[in-house]
Amino acid sequence: MAKPSDKKLIWIVWTLVLSFGLWFSYHMYSPQIRGNEWEILAFLLFMTVVASMPMMINGTPVFFLQWATLSVFLIFGLFIEIILVQIALLAVLYQAKLDKKTLFRMPMNSTMFFLVSFFSGVIYYTLGGQNGFNLAFDLKSFGLISIYLISYLLLNTLCIFFIDRFIYKRKQPFLTKDLVWEIFTTIITYPVGIALYIMYQYIGPAALILIGVPFISISLILKLYHSSQTANDYLKKTAEIGHQLSQNLYVNETVDFFIAKLYELFKVDFVFIHQVNANNQLEMISRVEQQEKLPVFTETLQENEGISGTVLATKKICTYHSEKDWQKINKGYMPEGIQSVLCMPLIKNNKVIGVLLLGSKQRKAFADIKLMVLDLLCTQFAIALENAKYFEQTKENSERCALTKLYNYRYFEKILSEQFVELNEKKLDNLALIMLDIDHFKSVNDQYGHQAGNEILKAFAKRIENLIGDHGVVARYGGEEFVILLSNIAKKEALDFAEFIRKMIASRPFVIKQTIEDRNQIKKISITASLGLACAPEDADEPLALIRHADRALYVGAKRAGRNRVASYVK
Ligand code: GH3
Ligand code: MG
Ligand code: MG
Repeated sequence: MAKPSDKKLIWIVWTLVLSFGLWFSYHMYSPQIRGNEWEILAFLLFMTVVASMPMMINGTPVFFLQWATLSVFLIFGLFIEIILVQIALLAVLYQAKLDKKTLFRMPMNSTMFFLVSFFSGVIYYTLGGQNGFNLAFDLKSFGLISIYLISYLLLNTLCIFFIDRFIYKRKQPFLTKDLVWEIFTTIITYPVGIALYIMYQYIGPAALILIGVPFISISLILKLYHSSQTANDYLKKTAEIGHQLSQNLYVNETVDFFIAKLYELFKVDFVFIHQVNANNQLEMISRVEQQEKLPVFTETLQENEGISGTVLATKKICTYHSEKDWQKINKGYMPEGIQSVLCMPLIKNNKVIGVLLLGSKQRKAFADIKLMVLDLLCTQFAIALENAKYFEQTKENSERCALTKLYNYRYFEKILSEQFVELNEKKLDNLALIMLDIDHFKSVNDQYGHQAGNEILKAFAKRIENLIGDHGVVARYGGEEFVILLSNIAKKEALDFAEFIRKMIASRPFVIKQTIEDRNQIKKISITASLGLACAPEDADEPLALIRHADRALYVGAKRAGRNRVASYVK
């Protein structure tokens, strides 16, 4: 977007360029107005009508007017052409409904069209071109008119390129698809403009109707063709994105990729994504404002609550063009300065699995959004998101124990092997493995029941996990046995750490809730554990040996010696 200082500069440049330019062209190439007033007015009227048909592409007005401006130029000269184009431009800009923020486009486009008219005209005159009725259509005239049109085209492209690069700060190549379209329209405009010029000499302003009506019809068809081509491009891009979306395995990855693509395709300032949880509430899973990932809000939304809740209930897209449209229905947070809002359900198998909320600081930002494209994208996103969730769930299930949520034995062995590789490659100095077994757990089960035993195992796992934090990895090895792997720790410290764990188990009882005869009871159960320690490389040179030795230390050194103690492996 253009900066305020740029905007001020645009107004200044416009005032200077136009006042000097108009004065200069009036004096240098004095127009022959007298006697032609009505005819000029007829042209003006016609051009204004044609120009009022909205044709804004990326904020730049696109005229199919050249055929008329060419004959105006040939008949009445540069000054009249400039004036007529400027007035027709006003009609276009009126259609574009500029507001305070976008008003700078008026002087910007006006300057651009002035410069294009002016320099193409000056080039034409300098090379010996003339105006008026009865121009001889010899090779020279055709050559000059061709040069005039080519200059017009090139200058126009140059201006658009300049505006994109320096005002909108969009990096676009010089040769765009739009330029190809311009060349194409110029080629068909050329003979039409000359035909109008010639016919005008015979029947006067009525020629405008005779030539204009069929030409406008063709322009409209071309415009339709152009928009179907654009839609085609969008669809191709969407298909590609859908394909890439399905390649992301993880939920975060999928969401980030989807949001990045939304920023690429649409004019958005924020993107919120909610997912529907088991209670049919919306919980936020992603919040991106101005391309920046921010912490999500933890409050959930019910059906019919706020914009997203309404979309969850109705399963229908909602679009709002300005703040006052959504203000009443919105609940809770909305980023500063948001005007336009678009809210879209994410649907899979006829079920809403989430809601997408887009916002823009511009008014009417989503008025001409390609809804079909967004809809397709959201469908593909919904599928990719569910697949990613399923993948993560399956992965989790295969790696973790269902009761304690600790890693399982299989996954632990994988980590252990990996760490041994690092040890062998000298990326790690040493490894310590602690094998832990709860003492007399059978009698705990016998006394309090198997369910209580399970509760204790869960609480036990949590306690160990908290003690270890990110110092190592803990896994459930089997029944009431656990393994702890610590890396880069000397044997002495590992032994101290094991002793610390033992104390933290024995010193505090485990609290469980039991329901006996409909009465909730809180039970405190004290337990102890025995621990065995082995280290690599000193005690073992391969993973299974390390486990075997820690196990041996546990049974021989700790259990047999009386339990509730730590033993380390001795050869
Ligand atoms: P020690 O290790 O001190 O020699 O005695 P222990 O009683 O702990 O050892 P043992 O290996 O004889 O028994 C282990 C018991 O742990 C058997 C089983 O009842 C209990 N156990 C194993 N897995 C689970 C489980 O998932 N839930 C419950 N509640 N108990 C379990
Ligand atoms: Mg035991
Ligand atoms: Mg055991």
